Amino acid sequence: MSQISLTFPDGNKCDFAAGVTAAEVAAAIAPSLGKAAISASLDGKHWDLQWPITGDARIAINTMKDDAAALELIRHDLAHVMARAVQKLWPEVKVTIGPVVENGWYYDFDRDEPFTPEDLGLIEKEMKAIINARDPVKTEVWDRSRAIAHYVAKNEPFKVELIEAIPGDEPLRMYWHGHWQDLCRGPHLQHTGQLPADAFKLMSVAGAYWRGDHRNKQLQRIYGVAFKNRDDLKAYLTMLEEAAKRDHRKLGREMELFHLQEEAPGMVFWHPNGWTIYRTLMEYMGRRLRRADYREIKTPQVVDRVLWERSGHWEAYRENMFIVEVDEEGAKEKRINALKPMNCPCHVQVYNQGLKSYRDLPLRLAEFGSCHRYESSGSMHGLMRVRGFTQDDAHIFCTEDQIEAECAKFIALLSSVYRDLGFDKFDIKLSTRPEVRIGSDETWDKVEGALTKAIEKLGLPYEINPGDGAFYGPKLDFKLTDAIGREWQCGTFQVDPNLPDRLGAEYVGEDGAKHRPYMLHRAILGSFERFIGILIENYAGKLPFWLAPRQVVVASIVSDADDYVNEVVAKLKDAGLRAEADTRNEKINYKVREHSVGKVPVILAIGMKEVEERTVSLRRLGETQTESLPLDQALRDLVAEATPPDQR
Ligand SMILES: [Zn+2]
Ligand SMILES: [Zn+2]
Repeated sequence: MSQISLTFPDGNKCDFAAGVTAAEVAAAIAPSLGKAAISASLDGKHWDLQWPITGDARIAINTMKDDAAALELIRHDLAHVMARAVQKLWPEVKVTIGPVVENGWYYDFDRDEPFTPEDLGLIEKEMKAIINARDPVKTEVWDRSRAIAHYVAKNEPFKVELIEAIPGDEPLRMYWHGHWQDLCRGPHLQHTGQLPADAFKLMSVAGAYWRGDHRNKQLQRIYGVAFKNRDDLKAYLTMLEEAAKRDHRKLGREMELFHLQEEAPGMVFWHPNGWTIYRTLMEYMGRRLRRADYREIKTPQVVDRVLWERSGHWEAYRENMFIVEVDEEGAKEKRINALKPMNCPCHVQVYNQGLKSYRDLPLRLAEFGSCHRYESSGSMHGLMRVRGFTQDDAHIFCTEDQIEAECAKFIALLSSVYRDLGFDKFDIKLSTRPEVRIGSDETWDKVEGALTKAIEKLGLPYEINPGDGAFYGPKLDFKLTDAIGREWQCGTFQVDPNLPDRLGAEYVGEDGAKHRPYMLHRAILGSFERFIGILIENYAGKLPFWLAPRQVVVASIVSDADDYVNEVVAKLKDAGLRAEADTRNEKINYKVREHSVGKVPVILAIGMKEVEERTVSLRRLGETQTESLPLDQALRDLVAEATPPDQR
């Protein structure tokens, strides 16, 4: 028998007989590894321990310590185990497909009766029994005709249809979890006992059409989540609970911030409270940008397709653009315009007005640019994914030599803004040159080097996404972590020599000749809409005082205090605070409860004692204690607290 050479992660090589399985390789290294093994990586491909290895390769044996492999297998094997459990409980149910998804898996079943929450409990119990039985997982390769005959005999029409839809006549892989069989590419675990019986949960049932087509039969999709251990599952479920409490759509209603409606899908109707947050954030960003030597501009919403053709968006992005056709006077044809999906081409138009010299660079043009992008209705989600939004956009026009310094300045600004807004932790990802690209390797080396040096000089950690850059340049993505550990990608920094070239931007260099500038696309928040959604969820609605739309409610305890209440409100307003009076004839506890739901950070309660002493009784959101303060002192304290972080 021929020999093959396998290379291990430590560089050691070892010869094996061709056809050896990864399980045999693992056992040969150490019997304990043979037991602990869950799968292998063969030349980077996830490899089932039972599959034969027929040629030289790099191999690594995976155990439960290898998170990515472990989670994929746990979730995938559980899909099979769940289908087996369902057919054990209800043998008439037909099985279809069951892929791994984020945090878990789903499986689509054809059953006349709907699955109830009680059914999910029964299925979970049966799954645990299968796990405890430690049933071996076996795999075989069958040819198509045998597989089809098998499923016809078993009356599994969906499986027959699946096989018939696979092109060619390659043999098919079958898997058994104990006696229960499914068509599957694999890989899988060695036996069901490798699954953690206490780290999964069936979450929900939803309708789903067979093969995602509404003309097909409607199936029932059961979702499950799974992790490596009980603690991870618990942490995930707690996070879900916490996220539901913080849902910005729910808080948006309770705080009267915004609404969405059918007639304008994905476009936000901002109410006074929500718009106050928006304006406050926008003014803050405006000050930060001005101080960082950006110049603010404003460019048109509706732009002729000719410009989008020149910029390349018409070809690459047409499906996501809102088109506006106009019967222009005297024109034979309709004039076709698009609502801008991004601001970049318009910024080059501003740059192109008038001759630029190297002395004008770097030129930083900022716009709170209102953009529209067509997103499918299924992908939209509150403020987090919308069709109409405003970016905190800017483009820096500069020379190649200026990229590093601009990148460093940008990251410093971004981290300071994130800190001001309450996010101390963010991750940086550097996406480097892809396979298909323009520009010389020398240029790529230089530009990627500039970004790397900028990050490293700031002493920040970063990860590399090899090959994930745009075809014309590398980019940085900035992901912040919120209060419950969720990550949100917000900031970007992208190096682009391409658009200035397409749109003919140039500058006169020191040598007197014309050169192309680079264009750096950058955003810190991403969009105001989404960022406000993130802020609301991060703070669970309890926004920092300077951002809170309603800062102070002055509430009367008795109607005789009304005059003083109005005087206090007037003083607060004069000092620039957002204050309102509540002199309704209601109990003070009722008023406090209502304003707590509205997430008003400070309530000043006023009774006759306060009127006589010219004090206020200050109560903070979420606290039961009140503090009695002289009016003047309360005013001073609140004004200081309301000062935005960049003005303190
Ligand atoms: Zn499978
Ligand atoms: Zn841009």
